[in-house]
Amino acid sequence: MVDKKMLKALSEQVTKEFYSAYLYMSMASYLEDKVLPGIAKWMRVQAQEESCHALIIFNYICEQGCKAELGAIKAPPSDFKSVTEVFKHTVEHEKLVTASIHAIAELAIALKDHATKQFLEWFIKEQVEEENSSETMLRQVVRLEDEKALFLLDKEAGARLFALPLPLVGKI
Ligand code: MG
Repeated sequence: MVDKKMLKALSEQVTKEFYSAYLYMSMASYLEDKVLPGIAKWMRVQAQEESCHALIIFNYICEQGCKAELGAIKAPPSDFKSVTEVFKHTVEHEKLVTASIHAIAELAIALKDHATKQFLEWFIKEQVEEENSSETMLRQVVRLEDEKALFLLDKEAGARLFALPLPLVGKI
């Protein structure tokens, strides 16, 4: 069992991860509408990963013999000014998620909850990757935001494949 404060923080993180998935689906929809199916696929994979993050935390709450308290998922924005704005928003959002994961890690330290601290290490590493991949996409989009160059990036981004995160292998 984890402490009540920790259960609340982990449950809220499940909701935040599902919101991330929802946000990226909304962005994928915007990109589909702009006829950029490759970049939309990149964003769909991003959304799938976020759903997995939610499940990994949900599984951990269950493994701890606790009951998750799932909150409402708010509606994501449905329109964006440009592809650049989509990726600026993605980078900002990933920074918020990193801060949220770090806050839970700090709570685990304060509560001397070593199991949760160790559990969160995968997420801490994952966030380094998430920030890096979204920043790389933003830099490419900023450099290439003319029609022809976006078309080329669309081909490359469309090659992104979804892989089940290691903590979920054999668990869904
Ligand atoms: Mg995530």
